[in-house]
Amino acid sequence: MSEVPDVQPSVSVGDYVKAVWETAGSGAASTKDVAERLSVSPASVSNMFVRLQEMGLVRHERYHGASLTERGRAEAMRLLRRHRLIETFLLEHLGYSWQDVHREAERLEHAVSDDFTERLAQYLGHPEHDPHGDPIPTAEGTLEPEQSKPLKDARTGERVRISRVAQGDNAVLAYLGERGLVPGSVLKVREVRDVDGVVVVEDESGEAHSLGEPLARSIFVRAEQVSRTGR
Ligand SMILES: [Zn+2]
Repeated sequence: MSEVPDVQPSVSVGDYVKAVWETAGSGAASTKDVAERLSVSPASVSNMFVRLQEMGLVRHERYHGASLTERGRAEAMRLLRRHRLIETFLLEHLGYSWQDVHREAERLEHAVSDDFTERLAQYLGHPEHDPHGDPIPTAEGTLEPEQSKPLKDARTGERVRISRVAQGDNAVLAYLGERGLVPGSVLKVREVRDVDGVVVVEDESGEAHSLGEPLARSIFVRAEQVSRTGR
């Protein structure tokens, strides 16, 4: 690989489509953002955007980046569904920790078919969220809209439930996992400190956790009704 550092044979058309979705959703993704996300050169991304446009997967305008066409979006949903179901399987049935599922799923998602994906969904009981709390698109390609807010926007005294952790850093995921700060956990917000963005929460066993602003930004929560039990 050292001769041509910006060419990764493992980066496929599907990876690009997913990267456009993950950096921009239904908006336009810039060459730079996609290059960073996939660890490839901006020139490779520009070339690929032209190819994806020819394939009818993106609309590409110079200086405006690339946005997914309807076909591109459907392809992104198909791959996200596959990826997130595999992550769920690895965590629930193969004993993987939640910080290790993403890497493995990135590899496996290239190897499985749509038929395998649907059988896996059935085997898992059609889960709606992956281990990080991200919604799993349906087989028809619909995705649950975002209904949660970052913990940093919670109010002091509020009871919240973690719905999603938007973190790619394994060390951070391990840190949160060890403390039980994972999707489904209920927290009481003790303090939201404006001066430094630190949020202090109390878990259900009464233990306090002080979370710096970057963490409070990447943990997404929903207000928890007092009577509600289970996830
Ligand atoms: Zn993942």
